[in-house]
Amino acid sequence: MKLIHANWYMKNITGLFSKDKGANRGFTAQYAVFWIFFKDKKDMTNQVLLNHELIHHEQVKELTPFLFLPVYLGNYVINLFRYKFDTDKAYRNILLEKEAYQNENNHTYRRNRKRYAWLFK
Ligand SMILES: [Zn+2]
Repeated sequence: MKLIHANWYMKNITGLFSKDKGANRGFTAQYAVFWIFFKDKKDMTNQVLLNHELIHHEQVKELTPFLFLPVYLGNYVINLFRYKFDTDKAYRNILLEKEAYQNENNHTYRRNRKRYAWLFK
């Protein structure tokens, strides 16, 4: 797993999808199978954020990237309808995100995690 400071990409590409506009636009971090991209250098040592992204890595190990993406995006689209196009609520209720958010503060979670735990969120 390689941590990459990618300020331009995070601001300008993920910024197209983030609710923050202007100087704060773009996701804080993005998991991408072999890499984790960060908008700000200081976040590269944020253990909670790293734990969150590494929970996604555990999910990808179960699903493979080929299934992770359709499950993730499919769940997001369903949630958009479920939550009346509240994009933040739709995102936070993606089953794969729920597992990551609920356990990002637990630094032993990945070691003791049950396989496919996200399915039961
Ligand atoms: Zn996440």
